[in-house]
Amino acid sequence: MSERDSPPPHPRVVVVGAGVSGLTAARLLSESFDVEVVDKGRKVGGRLATRRVGDATFDHGAQFITTHTSEFAEIVARWEQAGVATSWFEGRIGPDGSVDTDGHTRFRGDATMRDIAEHMAEGIDVRVFTRVAAVERLDSGWRVRLEDDTHLEAEAVLLTAPVPQSLDLLTTGGVELSAADADALQAVAYDPCLAALVALDGPSGLAPPGAINRSTGPIDWMADNQLKGVSTTPAVTIHATAEFSRTHWESPDDVVVAELLRSAGLSSGPRDDGVYVQRWRYARLATTHPERCLVADSVPPLVFAGDAFGGPKVEGASLSGAAAAEALASLLGRADS
Ligand SMILES: Cc1cc2nc3c(=O)[nH]c(=O)nc-3n(C[C@H](O)[C@H](O)[C@H](O)COP(=O)(O)OP(=O)(O)OC[C@H]3O[C@@H](n4cnc5c(N)ncnc54)[C@H](O)[C@@H]3O)c2cc1C
Repeated sequence: MSERDSPPPHPRVVVVGAGVSGLTAARLLSESFDVEVVDKGRKVGGRLATRRVGDATFDHGAQFITTHTSEFAEIVARWEQAGVATSWFEGRIGPDGSVDTDGHTRFRGDATMRDIAEHMAEGIDVRVFTRVAAVERLDSGWRVRLEDDTHLEAEAVLLTAPVPQSLDLLTTGGVELSAADADALQAVAYDPCLAALVALDGPSGLAPPGAINRSTGPIDWMADNQLKGVSTTPAVTIHATAEFSRTHWESPDDVVVAELLRSAGLSSGPRDDGVYVQRWRYARLATTHPERCLVADSVPPLVFAGDAFGGPKVEGASLSGAAAAEALASLLGRADS
C-alpha cells in the first residue's frame, strides 16, 4: 500500500497556524489531547518573525512585546526565566527615538523574536512548510486538505491564520458558517505593512535603544537590529505606515526601499547584497472581534483564534490561543462524557 493509500493521520485536533495563538493553544491542548499543528511557513512564529539576509539579522514582524494583563505577564516572566525573552527598554519610543516613560517594559527575544516561538513549539507536534488548501466537513469532524494532496482528519479544528485566510479555507472546502458567525468574522479588518530589511555599510545613526516611532508619513517604525542586540552587523527594519503600504503594495521592491530610505535619514547606506522587502498583507488589526475566540455554530468543533480576537498584538494572540484551548477542551470533554 502506498503512503497515499494509507489511512490519514487522525489527531483529535488540527491547529492551522504556528504563530503565537496556535502554539499557545497547541501547548495547552497537548496536555490532554493528540494535537497536530500545521503551518505553511518555513519556520514557526508567523508574524513573530526573524529573517537573515547574508550576515545581517532582522526582526521583521513584531518588534517588541508588552504586557497589560497579569495572565500574559506571567507567561512573559516564564520566557524570561527560560532565557528566551529579555527587556529591551522601558517606555514609549517617540518620533525622534527618545523614550517617554509609561510604566511598561518592551520585551524582545533574548536572541531574536522568533526564538520565543521556537521555545513555545518545543515538545509540540508541528509540521512546517505545510500549507492547508481547504477545510472540509465530515459527518463527525473535519478533513484538512494539504497542498501536497494529502490530508488529515480530526474531530476538531482550530483556525489561527488571519481571518480572511481562514475563511478562504472554509469556502474552498464548501463549508457554510451560520450567518451570525460569517458576519462577525467578515467584520474583522487588518492593515497591511510593507517592511524593508536593509543591511547597512556602517552605523545607522539611531541612538540607543535603537528605534523611532513616527506613525505618520511613509515610515511608521524603524529599528536598528544591531543596537537591539539581534544582529552582529548594522541592519535596520523599516515598517511603512498602512497608508504608504496600501499605495505602494504593487510597487517593485527597489522603489519601496528607495522611498523609505529617503525618509529614514540614516547615517549609512544600504549594502548591495543586503536588502529585502516583506509584504505583510494582514499585519495589524484595524477592527477586532470583541471575544477572545469564536466557536462556530452548528458544525463539528471549529474555533477561530488569533490576534483578531479579544485584543491585538502578541499579547492578544496569546490570550486568544489560551481561550480557544479552553473552548476546545470543553467541547471535546463533552463529546467524551
Ligand atoms: C510589521 C508588524 C509589526 C508588529 N509589531 C508588533 C509589536 O511591536 N508588538 C506586538 O505585540 N505585536 C506586533 N505585531 C503583531 C503581532 O506580530 C501579531 O499580533 C501576532 O504575532 C499574531 O499571532 P497569531 O498567532 O494571531 O497570527 P500569525 O502570527 O499570523 O500566525 C498565523 C499562522 O498561520 C499560518 N497560515 C496561514 N495560512 C495558512 C495555511 N493556509 N496553511 C498553513 N498555515 C497557514 C501562517 O504561516 C502563520 O504562521 C506586529 C505585526 C507586524 C506584521
